[in-house]
Amino acid sequence: MKAALLYGPRDVRVEEIPPLEPQGDEALIRIRACGVCPSDVRKYAPPQPSEPLPEPRLIGHEWVGEIVELPASGAGEFQVGDRVAVDWRVICGTCRYCRRGAFNFCLAAEPARVRGGYAEFGCAPLSNLRRLPEQVSFAAAVFCEPLACCLNGMRRNRLDFGDTLVIIGAGPIGLMHLQLAKQRGARVVVCDLRPERLRVAEELGADEVICPPHEDPVARVKALTDGYGAESVLVAVGGVEPARQALEMVDLNGTVNLFAGTYPAATFPLDPNPIHYRQLNLTGSHDFSPQDFTAALQFIATGRVRVEPLISHQLPLSETKRGFDLVMAREGLKVVILC
Ligand SMILES: [Zn+2]
Ligand SMILES: [Zn+2]
Repeated sequence: MKAALLYGPRDVRVEEIPPLEPQGDEALIRIRACGVCPSDVRKYAPPQPSEPLPEPRLIGHEWVGEIVELPASGAGEFQVGDRVAVDWRVICGTCRYCRRGAFNFCLAAEPARVRGGYAEFGCAPLSNLRRLPEQVSFAAAVFCEPLACCLNGMRRNRLDFGDTLVIIGAGPIGLMHLQLAKQRGARVVVCDLRPERLRVAEELGADEVICPPHEDPVARVKALTDGYGAESVLVAVGGVEPARQALEMVDLNGTVNLFAGTYPAATFPLDPNPIHYRQLNLTGSHDFSPQDFTAALQFIATGRVRVEPLISHQLPLSETKRGFDLVMAREGLKVVILC
């Protein structure tokens, strides 16, 4: 089968490799699309200088396709030919965190069990497949994974009806949060350096947009909230400046959710007093649970979260490297590789 393999920094090659063999309860899937995630691009272009990999690696986790072979052990609800989205996180169900419902922190997660990515075929246990309704295209279905992460994040935002949510960063993640927050009855303010991203935010229902450095985001948020600040701020872009601004623009008793990691790692001085005296909730969110993945597909299938406007490029497998370079340069929005 053909696959795009990562050899080392900035070195991706499309090659012919031996076909994958499904085991036990796994289905063999003809992969049709794989979304380029910033985490793939960090493997491709590591923030720290690094060596070529000891052996080439198949990467990519936002993949979807068609079942071509079912396990002999039983097909469950599935049939050959079913179009499916694949949850890459195989969880144990019995560790400390699974028993507490924090499946995103499963201690025995088996990320290597779901095999696939930027390739023609992949294997995954039936428990990790979700059947796609007819109206959901393969390119749209790759959003199940990042949207599941957003649903996990939304729970941490402590949004109430009528609250103002500021989203810093209008990439695909910020633009999905925007649509979820509108359904929670929030007024949503979106802040990004790129005017073309803010135009998409406006199309998707943003109430206000802020484009630094033309305007000071903290001053503008204060002006929009009678001087108080926003009840909730979501940081969907890495870096210490957005995190610092978030803490300045949040209202007392409000919440700041650091959704994005910062690469390379960076720190900033944090005054504990405002957190204490202003009773701020400072949180983060990471990954998702199987329920989030199921719910994400529902949101996409019903059109309540519109993902098509977030797709800027659809490229063939042979252009995987170009796809990575586009995401690295923050050109466009979501890049989808059609495998
Ligand atoms: Zn992802
Ligand atoms: Zn577990």
